[in-house]
Amino acid sequence: MSTATLNISEIFHSIQGESSFSGWPCAFIRLAGCGHGCIGCDTAYAEDGGSVLQVNEIIQAALAFQAPFIEVTGGEPLLQPAVHSLMRQLCDLDQKVLLETGGFLSVGGVDSRVHKIIDLKPPSSGVCDQNNPENIRLALVAELPHRQTFEFKIVIANKEDYEWATSLLHEHCLTDSFTIMMGVAFGKLDPAELAEWMLRDRLQARMQLQLHKYIWDPSMKGV
Ligand code: SF4
Repeated sequence: MSTATLNISEIFHSIQGESSFSGWPCAFIRLAGCGHGCIGCDTAYAEDGGSVLQVNEIIQAALAFQAPFIEVTGGEPLLQPAVHSLMRQLCDLDQKVLLETGGFLSVGGVDSRVHKIIDLKPPSSGVCDQNNPENIRLALVAELPHRQTFEFKIVIANKEDYEWATSLLHEHCLTDSFTIMMGVAFGKLDPAELAEWMLRDRLQARMQLQLHKYIWDPSMKGV
Protein backbone atom coordinates (compact mmCIF):
# COMPACT_ATOMS: atom_id res chain seq x y z
CA MET A 1 0.00 0.00 0.00
CA SER A 2 1.25 3.49 -0.89
CA THR A 3 2.70 5.65 1.89
CA ALA A 4 2.54 8.85 -0.19
CA THR A 5 1.04 11.84 1.59
CA LEU A 6 -0.82 14.98 0.59
CA ASN A 7 -1.57 18.23 2.39
CA ILE A 8 -5.35 18.32 2.54
CA SER A 9 -7.57 21.31 3.30
CA GLU A 10 -10.86 19.39 3.53
CA ILE A 11 -12.67 16.27 2.36
CA PHE A 12 -16.41 16.76 2.12
CA HIS A 13 -19.64 15.71 0.48
CA SER A 14 -21.61 18.21 -1.55
CA ILE A 15 -23.39 18.92 -4.80
CA GLN A 16 -21.06 19.47 -7.75
CA GLY A 17 -21.68 23.10 -8.61
CA GLU A 18 -19.40 24.20 -11.41
CA SER A 19 -18.92 21.97 -14.43
CA SER A 20 -20.85 19.74 -16.83
CA PHE A 21 -21.35 17.49 -13.76
CA SER A 22 -23.18 20.25 -11.89
CA GLY A 23 -26.01 18.90 -9.79
CA TRP A 24 -24.50 15.49 -9.05
CA PRO A 25 -23.68 14.48 -5.48
CA CYS A 26 -19.91 14.44 -5.26
CA ALA A 27 -17.13 13.71 -2.75
CA PHE A 28 -14.58 16.50 -2.80
CA ILE A 29 -10.92 16.22 -1.88
CA ARG A 30 -9.57 19.75 -1.53
CA LEU A 31 -5.79 19.93 -1.53
CA ALA A 32 -4.23 22.79 0.44
CA GLY A 33 -2.06 25.46 -1.14
CA CYS A 34 -2.00 27.38 -4.39
CA GLY A 35 -0.26 30.78 -4.27
CA HIS A 36 -1.50 31.81 -7.69
CA GLY A 37 -3.26 34.86 -6.26
CA CYS A 38 -6.24 35.12 -8.60
CA ILE A 39 -8.38 38.16 -7.85
CA GLY A 40 -11.69 36.88 -6.46
CA CYS A 41 -10.36 33.43 -5.45
CA ASP A 42 -13.19 31.88 -3.47
CA THR A 43 -11.05 29.20 -1.81
CA ALA A 44 -8.35 31.45 -0.36
CA TYR A 45 -8.89 29.66 2.95
CA ALA A 46 -7.26 26.59 1.39
CA GLU A 47 -3.97 28.53 1.14
CA ASP A 48 -3.00 28.02 4.75
CA GLY A 49 -2.84 25.07 7.05
CA GLY A 50 -4.20 21.77 5.94
CA SER A 51 -3.48 18.33 7.36
CA VAL A 52 -0.95 15.88 6.01
CA LEU A 53 -2.76 12.63 5.29
CA GLN A 54 -1.70 9.39 3.67
CA VAL A 55 -3.17 8.74 0.24
CA ASN A 56 -4.91 5.58 1.45
CA GLU A 57 -6.57 7.54 4.32
CA ILE A 58 -7.78 10.15 1.82
CA ILE A 59 -9.20 7.47 -0.44
CA GLN A 60 -11.08 5.82 2.42
CA ALA A 61 -12.52 9.17 3.56
CA ALA A 62 -13.75 9.99 0.05
CA LEU A 63 -15.17 6.53 -0.61
CA ALA A 64 -17.18 6.71 2.62
CA PHE A 65 -19.54 9.21 0.97
CA GLN A 66 -20.54 6.64 -1.69
CA ALA A 67 -20.89 9.47 -4.21
CA PRO A 68 -21.14 8.87 -7.96
CA PHE A 69 -18.17 11.20 -8.52
CA ILE A 70 -15.02 12.11 -6.63
CA GLU A 71 -13.54 15.52 -7.41
CA VAL A 72 -9.94 16.43 -6.66
CA THR A 73 -9.67 20.20 -6.30
CA GLY A 74 -7.85 22.92 -4.38
CA GLY A 75 -6.12 25.26 -3.92
CA GLU A 76 -4.18 23.97 -6.88
CA PRO A 77 -4.17 20.17 -6.76
CA LEU A 78 -1.43 19.74 -9.36
CA LEU A 79 1.15 21.43 -7.13
CA GLN A 80 1.51 18.26 -5.04
CA PRO A 81 3.09 15.42 -7.07
CA ALA A 82 1.40 12.68 -5.03
CA VAL A 83 -1.95 13.83 -6.41
CA HIS A 84 -1.22 11.67 -9.46
CA SER A 85 -0.99 8.55 -7.30
CA LEU A 86 -4.25 9.53 -5.57
CA MET A 87 -6.11 9.96 -8.86
CA ARG A 88 -4.64 6.80 -10.39
CA GLN A 89 -5.64 4.72 -7.37
CA LEU A 90 -9.17 6.15 -7.38
CA CYS A 91 -9.50 5.28 -11.08
CA ASP A 92 -8.19 1.78 -10.40
CA LEU A 93 -11.03 1.44 -7.88
CA ASP A 94 -13.47 2.22 -10.73
CA GLN A 95 -14.34 5.63 -9.33
CA LYS A 96 -15.37 8.43 -11.68
CA VAL A 97 -12.73 11.04 -10.94
CA LEU A 98 -12.92 14.76 -11.74
CA LEU A 99 -9.96 17.12 -11.48
CA GLU A 100 -10.55 20.84 -11.17
CA THR A 101 -7.42 22.85 -11.85
CA GLY A 102 -6.63 26.56 -12.08
CA GLY A 103 -5.03 26.01 -15.47
CA PHE A 104 -1.56 27.45 -14.89
CA LEU A 105 0.06 24.01 -14.62
CA SER A 106 0.03 21.37 -17.32
CA VAL A 107 -2.43 18.49 -17.06
CA GLY A 108 0.04 16.44 -19.11
CA GLY A 109 0.83 13.95 -16.33
CA VAL A 110 -2.78 13.35 -15.32
CA ASP A 111 -4.16 9.81 -15.71
CA SER A 112 -6.13 9.71 -18.96
CA ARG A 113 -9.18 8.29 -17.16
CA VAL A 114 -9.58 11.48 -15.10
CA HIS A 115 -12.05 14.09 -16.37
CA LYS A 116 -10.18 17.39 -16.41
CA ILE A 117 -12.04 20.65 -15.70
CA ILE A 118 -9.53 23.32 -16.65
CA ASP A 119 -9.91 27.00 -15.84
CA LEU A 120 -9.12 29.56 -18.50
CA LYS A 121 -8.51 32.68 -16.40
CA PRO A 122 -9.80 35.90 -18.00
CA PRO A 123 -8.34 39.41 -17.55
CA SER A 124 -10.34 40.21 -14.38
CA SER A 125 -8.50 37.38 -12.59
CA GLY A 126 -5.25 39.35 -12.80
CA VAL A 127 -3.45 36.17 -13.93
CA CYS A 128 -4.72 35.89 -17.48
CA ASP A 129 -1.16 35.86 -18.83
CA GLN A 130 -0.40 32.70 -16.83
CA ASN A 131 -2.89 30.30 -18.46
CA ASN A 132 -0.77 27.33 -19.52
CA PRO A 133 -1.07 27.05 -23.33
CA GLU A 134 -0.01 23.40 -23.06
CA ASN A 135 -3.47 22.49 -21.77
CA ILE A 136 -5.28 23.67 -24.90
CA ARG A 137 -2.63 21.97 -27.04
CA LEU A 138 -3.01 18.67 -25.14
CA ALA A 139 -6.79 18.81 -25.52
CA LEU A 140 -6.57 19.52 -29.26
CA VAL A 141 -4.17 16.62 -29.95
CA ALA A 142 -5.99 14.12 -27.72
CA GLU A 143 -7.74 11.36 -29.59
CA LEU A 144 -11.20 10.01 -28.80
CA PRO A 145 -12.28 8.91 -26.28
CA HIS A 146 -9.53 10.66 -24.26
CA ARG A 147 -10.46 13.97 -25.91
CA GLN A 148 -13.81 13.88 -24.13
CA THR A 149 -12.05 14.02 -20.75
CA PHE A 150 -11.15 17.69 -21.27
CA GLU A 151 -13.50 20.53 -20.52
CA PHE A 152 -12.80 24.21 -20.02
CA LYS A 153 -14.36 26.61 -17.54
CA ILE A 154 -14.34 30.40 -17.78
CA VAL A 155 -15.66 32.67 -15.03
CA ILE A 156 -16.73 35.99 -16.49
CA ALA A 157 -16.80 39.19 -14.41
CA ASN A 158 -17.33 41.80 -17.14
CA LYS A 159 -17.58 42.50 -20.86
CA GLU A 160 -13.80 42.54 -21.31
CA ASP A 161 -13.62 39.00 -19.92
CA TYR A 162 -16.38 37.86 -22.25
CA GLU A 163 -14.69 39.33 -25.31
CA TRP A 164 -11.36 37.79 -24.31
CA ALA A 165 -13.05 34.40 -23.83
CA THR A 166 -14.91 34.38 -27.14
CA SER A 167 -11.79 35.41 -29.00
CA LEU A 168 -9.79 32.56 -27.40
CA LEU A 169 -12.55 30.03 -28.09
CA HIS A 170 -12.73 31.03 -31.74
CA GLU A 171 -8.96 31.15 -32.18
CA HIS A 172 -8.64 27.48 -31.20
CA CYS A 173 -12.12 26.34 -32.36
CA LEU A 174 -12.61 25.00 -28.83
CA THR A 175 -16.40 24.98 -28.98
CA ASP A 176 -16.25 22.49 -31.88
CA SER A 177 -14.75 19.72 -29.76
CA PHE A 178 -15.03 20.47 -26.07
CA THR A 179 -17.57 21.31 -23.43
CA ILE A 180 -17.09 24.95 -22.53
CA MET A 181 -18.67 26.01 -19.27
CA MET A 182 -19.10 29.77 -18.97
CA GLY A 183 -20.32 31.31 -15.75
CA VAL A 184 -20.49 34.62 -13.95
CA ALA A 185 -18.21 35.70 -11.13
CA PHE A 186 -20.67 35.54 -8.23
CA GLY A 187 -22.02 38.99 -7.39
CA LYS A 188 -19.94 40.74 -10.07
CA LEU A 189 -21.98 40.22 -13.22
CA ASP A 190 -25.72 39.81 -13.67
CA PRO A 191 -26.29 36.29 -15.08
CA ALA A 192 -28.96 37.74 -17.40
CA GLU A 193 -26.32 39.93 -19.01
CA LEU A 194 -24.03 36.98 -19.76
CA ALA A 195 -26.99 34.98 -21.07
CA GLU A 196 -27.87 37.85 -23.41
CA TRP A 197 -24.32 38.05 -24.80
CA MET A 198 -24.12 34.29 -25.33
CA LEU A 199 -27.47 34.13 -27.11
CA ARG A 200 -26.72 37.20 -29.23
CA ASP A 201 -23.43 35.65 -30.37
CA ARG A 202 -24.91 32.17 -30.90
CA LEU A 203 -22.08 30.94 -28.69
CA GLN A 204 -21.85 27.14 -28.57
CA ALA A 205 -21.03 27.05 -24.86
CA ARG A 206 -22.93 26.11 -21.73
CA MET A 207 -23.88 28.78 -19.25
CA GLN A 208 -23.62 27.84 -15.60
CA LEU A 209 -24.15 29.39 -12.20
CA GLN A 210 -22.13 28.27 -9.19
CA LEU A 211 -24.90 26.03 -7.91
CA HIS A 212 -23.47 25.55 -4.40
CA LYS A 213 -23.55 29.33 -3.86
CA TYR A 214 -27.30 29.36 -4.46
CA ILE A 215 -28.01 26.31 -2.32
CA TRP A 216 -25.90 27.44 0.64
CA ASP A 217 -24.48 30.69 1.97
CA PRO A 218 -22.00 31.83 -0.71
CA SER A 219 -19.21 32.23 1.87
CA MET A 220 -19.72 28.77 3.38
CA LYS A 221 -16.77 26.36 3.36
CA GLY A 222 -17.07 22.63 2.79
CA VAL A 223 -19.82 22.80 0.16
S1 SF4 B 1 -5.87 29.03 -9.09
FE1 SF4 B 1 -7.80 28.63 -7.99
S2 SF4 B 1 -7.21 28.27 -5.85
FE2 SF4 B 1 -5.45 29.24 -6.87
S3 SF4 B 1 -5.69 31.44 -6.43
FE3 SF4 B 1 -6.65 31.02 -8.42
S4 SF4 B 1 -8.83 30.65 -7.95
FE4 SF4 B 1 -7.68 30.45 -6.02
